[in-house]
Amino acid sequence: MTRTVLLTDYAWPDDKVEREVIERAGFTLVSGPAKPAPAAEIDALAAQHHPDAILTCWAEVSAAAIAASPALKIVARLGVGLDNIDVDAATERGIWVTNVPDYCVAEVSDHAVGFAIAWARGLIHFDREVRSGRWDPASANLRRLSELTCGIAGFGRIGRATAAKMQALGCRVLAYDPHTSNAPDNIELVDFETLLASSDIVVIHAPLTPSTHHLINPDAISKMRRGSLLINVSRGGVVDTAAVIEGLASGILSGVGFDVLEDEPRVPPELIAHPGAMITPHVAFSSDASLIELRRRAAEEVVRVLSGGMPEQPRNNPRR
Ligand code: NAD
Repeated sequence: MTRTVLLTDYAWPDDKVEREVIERAGFTLVSGPAKPAPAAEIDALAAQHHPDAILTCWAEVSAAAIAASPALKIVARLGVGLDNIDVDAATERGIWVTNVPDYCVAEVSDHAVGFAIAWARGLIHFDREVRSGRWDPASANLRRLSELTCGIAGFGRIGRATAAKMQALGCRVLAYDPHTSNAPDNIELVDFETLLASSDIVVIHAPLTPSTHHLINPDAISKMRRGSLLINVSRGGVVDTAAVIEGLASGILSGVGFDVLEDEPRVPPELIAHPGAMITPHVAFSSDASLIELRRRAAEEVVRVLSGGMPEQPRNNPRR
C-alpha cells in the first residue's frame, strides 16, 4: 500500500518541489490549502487521509491530528520554529519531529549587512529624499564602514556569518554570547555592556527566549554610542520598541534596521515617520534559493524516515 504524506499548508505559490521529492520516492502527496487552515480542519485532514508523514509550514499540527494518524512516522516542519507542532504528543507516540535549522543563514546575515551598508552609505535615506524631489548631496552624513565597530549579540550560525561579512567590509567585530567561549582569532568576545558601549552598529542575532525578551531595553539603549545603528533580524520581542522610539528621539540611535517587530505586522507610526528607520516585513529568510532548499530538505527528511532511515535534523527523541 502506498504511503501518504500530508502537506498541511505552504507559503509559496505551489507544492511542486515537495511533490517532486515525495513522488520520486514512490509516496503519495496530499496537499491541504496553501493558507494554513484552523487546527480542526488539519485534524480532519489527518483523520481522512491517515498520513504516514506530515509536512507543515504554519498550520497547527495538534495532538488530535497526531492521534488521528495511526501510521504517522514523522512531522517535518518547513522552517525552523516548532511552536505550531505538539512535539510532546509526537514524542509520546514515537514520531520524529524535524526542522531545517540552517536553510537561510546566508540570507539573514546578508540582510543584516545590507542594513549596515544602507545606513553607512545613506542608501535608503537618499533614495527617499530623491523620490520626494530633493537633491542635496551637501546634507550627507555618511560613514566609512572600515572605521566602524560592529557588535553582534548572539554568536550562533547567523551571527558568525554576519561577523565574517562585516570583517570583509573592514569593520572591527565584537560579539556577545553568554553560551559561547570560542570565536575566530580576530573577533573579540565581550560582555554585553562592552558591546553596547563600543559599537557603532549593534546587530541582534540572539533568539527570543524568556531571558532575551527586551534584551534591548531603555537601560541597554542608554549604554549605546550616540548616533549608533541598531539592527534586529532575529525576533521582534528581543527589542523593546517603545525604548527604541525614545532612543531615536533622543539621538542615541540615528537609525534602526528591523526585519522583525514586537507587534508585527503592526508598525508603530513613530518608526514610519523617522527618517533613519529601515523596516522590512520579516523577509530576511527569503530568497529563491533558500525557499527551494527549505522545501527540498524538509521533504527529503520525510523520504528518509519513511524509507526506514534516521532523520538528519531530529528535534525530539521519540521512544521507539
Ligand atoms: P543559533 O541557535 O545558531 O544562534 C543563536 C545564538 O544566540 C546561540 O549561539 C546562543 O548561544 C545565542 N544566545 C542565546 N541567548 C543569548 C543571549 N541572552 N544573548 C546573546 N546571545 C544569546 O541560531 P541562528 O540560526 O543563528 O538564528 C538566530 C535567530 O535568528 C533565530 O533564533 C531566529 O529567531 C532568527 N531568524 C530570523 C529570521 C528572519 O527571517 N528574520 C530567519 C531565521 C532565523
